[in-house]
Amino acid sequence: MKRQTTASTCCYCGVGCGVLIEHDGEQILGVSGDPTHPANYGKLCSKGSTLHLTGDLAARALYPQLRLGKGLARARTDWDSALDHAASVFARTIAEHGPDSVAFYISGQLLTEDYYAFNKLARALVGTNNIDSNSRLCMSSAVVGYKRSLGADAPPCSYEDLELSDCVMIVGSNMAYAHPVLFRRLEQARARRPQMKVIVIDPRRTDTCDLADLHLAILPGSDVALFHGILHLLLWEGWIDRSFIQAHTEGLAELKNLVRDYTPHRVAQLCGISVAQLQQCAEWVGTSPSFLSLWCMGLNQSTAGSAKNSALINLHLATGQIGRPGAGPFSLTGQPNAMGGRETGSLANLLPGHREASHAGHRAEVAAYWSVPTLPESPGLSAIELFEQVNSGKIKALWIACTNPAQSLPDQQNVRAALQACPFVVLQEAFATTETAPFADLLLPAASWGEKEGTVTNSERRISHVRRAIPAPGEARPDWAITVDFAQRLEKHLRPGQASLFAFDQPGQLFDEFKQLTRGRDLDLSGLSHALLDHLGPQQWPFPQGATSGTPRLYVDGIFPTTSGRAQFIAEPFCAAKEQRDAHFPLTLITGRLRDQWHGMSRTGTAAQLFGHVSEALLSLHPDELQRQHLNAGDLVNLKSRRGSVIVALASDDSVRPGQAFLPMHWGDRFLKGGVNVLTQPAFDPLSKQPELKHSGVRIEAVELPWQFFALVEGNVQQHFEALRPLCEDFAYVSLSLAGRERPALLIRAACAQPPAPQRLQEIDLHLGLDHGPVLAYDDSRRAIGKRVRIEQGRITAIRLAGETLARHWLQNLWLEGRVDAQLRPWLLAPLSAPPGAAGANPGAQKTLCNCKNVSHSAVCAGIRSGLDLQGLKQQLGCGTQCGSCVPEIKRLLAAKVRPSAITS
Ligand code: SF4
Repeated sequence: MKRQTTASTCCYCGVGCGVLIEHDGEQILGVSGDPTHPANYGKLCSKGSTLHLTGDLAARALYPQLRLGKGLARARTDWDSALDHAASVFARTIAEHGPDSVAFYISGQLLTEDYYAFNKLARALVGTNNIDSNSRLCMSSAVVGYKRSLGADAPPCSYEDLELSDCVMIVGSNMAYAHPVLFRRLEQARARRPQMKVIVIDPRRTDTCDLADLHLAILPGSDVALFHGILHLLLWEGWIDRSFIQAHTEGLAELKNLVRDYTPHRVAQLCGISVAQLQQCAEWVGTSPSFLSLWCMGLNQSTAGSAKNSALINLHLATGQIGRPGAGPFSLTGQPNAMGGRETGSLANLLPGHREASHAGHRAEVAAYWSVPTLPESPGLSAIELFEQVNSGKIKALWIACTNPAQSLPDQQNVRAALQACPFVVLQEAFATTETAPFADLLLPAASWGEKEGTVTNSERRISHVRRAIPAPGEARPDWAITVDFAQRLEKHLRPGQASLFAFDQPGQLFDEFKQLTRGRDLDLSGLSHALLDHLGPQQWPFPQGATSGTPRLYVDGIFPTTSGRAQFIAEPFCAAKEQRDAHFPLTLITGRLRDQWHGMSRTGTAAQLFGHVSEALLSLHPDELQRQHLNAGDLVNLKSRRGSVIVALASDDSVRPGQAFLPMHWGDRFLKGGVNVLTQPAFDPLSKQPELKHSGVRIEAVELPWQFFALVEGNVQQHFEALRPLCEDFAYVSLSLAGRERPALLIRAACAQPPAPQRLQEIDLHLGLDHGPVLAYDDSRRAIGKRVRIEQGRITAIRLAGETLARHWLQNLWLEGRVDAQLRPWLLAPLSAPPGAAGANPGAQKTLCNCKNVSHSAVCAGIRSGLDLQGLKQQLGCGTQCGSCVPEIKRLLAAKVRPSAITS
């Protein structure tokens, strides 16, 4: 078929980059950045530029599947039977236990039209406010921050403000990894305007710090103290905008009383920084002509998330740094359409059009628009509360859409117990391989990126029209269509004989109905339509009827959507994070992101290329902390919190401070037995109800797991993954990942105290294709050592090392190189940590630094050692010349004059 291009957007982070999808009408063949999209002007990061390599069909949900008993396997069914069954179970549950006995848990991945359909289903048809989104884990503290301080959940800035600002403060965000294309814009702006100051506030020294003039490595959770300390200095030095405060704000007197106690010495002590650093930070904030703050999960995922957001916004109000170019508080959203969810009211406490579910007038307005007598009054359950109520048996039917709570919610043991106990779990999902999928009684296959149409709103309030390039595979359907179809069937039970509330055939109809609920509200987007977006391109709300362009900046007139029209200073004292270090749990566990993975890895975890930079779950500890605990990089340890434990390998990493530990958030139970969120805590902010995923008390215990296992198998990685992961369940430590590019492979590392039964290895060998054919084998049953290497057409295609795995790195490198020299063959099964002739050095597995150009870490190090600078490396190796995601790390290596190129495990 003819090659075509369809304009759409990236489905990962909230930057909302425009993407051109190349396809032939049936398959997606490639992607490139959309040069006309104002979010990215043609740029994509390492994740966006590999979108076409993700979403392996073998991982997709293709047909509805149903089981009629918890102990049974799901069987394929048809859509009519599936949705009729779901409608009758929901109707029966509602009839017997009331509308609040069912719940919907949805996602920032959904399109606005999908969200709207779910909201109307829950509130207007079912009559419950039990609809919450995974945005609760992501942005709900920012929502509260904006609403309390400024009057509406509306980020006031535009991306162009990054380029116009004189002082940019990045707080609690590894922007270089989490919002890379915006970070590139900032880097370029800084190169053009070197006088711009960049302050990074983060407990870790991340790649984002590469751009920082000042890095404040504050103690985790101490942000409110820091912001109050900055305000203390702003007031003391007179670095405030008195006329702005007088004309446009309220509440400074009370706040002044509070921050009087936040003296520089006290704050420096609370935050673990120097007084000089604090003073420098306050001076730049207070004296720069324009001041912009950017933040993400470091502020939001906290028991004091709302207070942190408001304390930061206080700085903008005190300095009048809002509503003008290069200035303002600007949250970076984690998901592609978290904003659309907030607009459509997809958190339990909201209603469409930035309304409140607790507000009788708002309920009446929406009920009248939807032509239903009333909307439910009883408060809905937020994510953590919702799963607690599932666990307690109050929620008896749960509909999960496009999200993976068995990976992403904290306190996983309770979440999984809840999912296991819930009488009826529906999962509407594009991927059949997520950690949540085994809990589904009914699995409904959903269309995914490139396969559905609708709209998304990015961090700067810009709405893009997402277009469909190819049909969804199998019987998968767009999320809005599944929801509407289910609602129409449920109506027959709940509103027999009445006109349908869900007469939608196209997503544009949902958008047109939704937009009228924004008319006259702060986010008024009633002037937009899918057709207008096609005509004008992506637009920023408000965009009222009759507008000809969107609104780049809010509050330029100093009038805020509060009752008084004035912005509010919020005076709340610093409260430490819930779990402080103590004798039992002496380390603080911080979670965060990897450069090339996204959230729960249901999509990025299908592309081997995206494991090139970081190939497995590693717990980062400072070298001094390792020494203090008599541990070494590569050791396996039992990492324990008050809720659970995981066994994980250690990495030496001086970017974390002693007393802290860092584990990426992405690794769920599929990739690391147990998954990171068995450790994290469900305690949440009292206002935003966002859990403190970023901060848990942990301890490390040494483990003795002498029996080690390593396997590699090339090809059909998803099928191998699904077959082999359950066979590893008995091992104490299990880590799975992918490797390679053109020839992807599945890798397994495992360990346990005792060797497994020989039969288990035979089962594994069967799936690895090591039970027959051209296989080199070695067995020493007395020592429980067994090795297999399969060689086909002169190259390795599968490896299994059991009991002794010294050769795993160089065998993996041989596989990657696609050759086995005749002289090496006799040594493939030997207990050698390096190939003969390599002078005993353990080469380590190769790490890819630049994913776009496939340039290894060791090649960059060699280039630096030969005297190349950044420009020289770019020219000779090509690294850093495409998406630029690797540039901060290359700069760090240059600055360090190349530390040893060894991998840390
Ligand atoms: Fe996608 Fe990267 Fe752009 Fe985020 S920055 S939207 S992940 S391409």
